[in-house]
Amino acid sequence: MALLAGFVTAVVPVAVFGVMSTANTNTPAPTPPAIATRDLFGVPAQPSQPDARAGAITTTLRHALAQADLPGDLSQQILRLLRGSVDASAQASPGDYFRVIYEPAGDGCCGQDVRMTALEVQLRGSHHSGVWFATAERPQGDYYRFDGTLMAGLRFTFPVVATRVSSTFGGRVHPVSGTQHVHSGVDLAAPKGRAVHASADGVVSHIGNDSRGYGKYVVIRHANGYASYYAHLSKIERGLRNGMRVTRAQRVGAVGSTGTATGPHLHFEVKRGDRPIDPLALIRKTNVSALRGEQLAAFQRVASVARMRLAAAGPDALTAANKTGDATGRPLTRS
Ligand SMILES: [Zn+2]
Repeated sequence: MALLAGFVTAVVPVAVFGVMSTANTNTPAPTPPAIATRDLFGVPAQPSQPDARAGAITTTLRHALAQADLPGDLSQQILRLLRGSVDASAQASPGDYFRVIYEPAGDGCCGQDVRMTALEVQLRGSHHSGVWFATAERPQGDYYRFDGTLMAGLRFTFPVVATRVSSTFGGRVHPVSGTQHVHSGVDLAAPKGRAVHASADGVVSHIGNDSRGYGKYVVIRHANGYASYYAHLSKIERGLRNGMRVTRAQRVGAVGSTGTATGPHLHFEVKRGDRPIDPLALIRKTNVSALRGEQLAAFQRVASVARMRLAAAGPDALTAANKTGDATGRPLTRS
């Protein structure tokens, strides 16, 4: 929060606007070191030209981004990264804002002209920030918080400390009846009462009781169209409600055998859209190992440059822009 010190008082009475940090010549601002982010972790230097945009959020985040007329699909990248963590259509609080840094994608990757390299959003009392960082193992890059942990919605983990996987995902022929049976999730055997945790950040979308199926169960909606199901629970975590935001590893209930279950286990299911997918494959895919050692040191250098660039995008630039023009670039008329 130190980064935000002083900004809250610099409330800008302009609806929504974007400014280039480089255009800010009126106010002395910290000058970021002239290094491309990717220089720092072994990729040859490129004439990368990061740009920054910032704006107040006076109505909703979605509206602010639309009004800011960001290049390429930058506003979609922002919304995708924050989906599951913020409500982009909710009314903002006074002083809310966004700051984003981007650079030319350069490699023609993924059909986008620009890549978001850092983001900071203050919205309705919560603060979200992310820095893009690539490693040799994940050259496509991931978004991390400033402390080096992965950002919301991008990582799924085991929801319970299981003794074993008692049934895997997918179709198979029943050994006795010979009928085809499709298992829409995985069964994780564990003693009754053991804590069940949210597999990824998200929002509780359903709490149900289906005595002839899932038993007591919880559904969590995540970023990128994912939803996870936690079934046969012996109890739902006290205070858990529909619409409540949960973070990865937050407790949502306890292992049980309610509904159709022969013994205590967690039926853990993940869908993308309407299609069930293999939760274990998803966990393997998104279980990015924590940054440590040299990688963490490299990330910290990248993150500190990103911090400076974000800070340079506002409030100084916001204040300067406010003196000279409004959202449309017209000079403000003052009598
Ligand atoms: Zn099952």
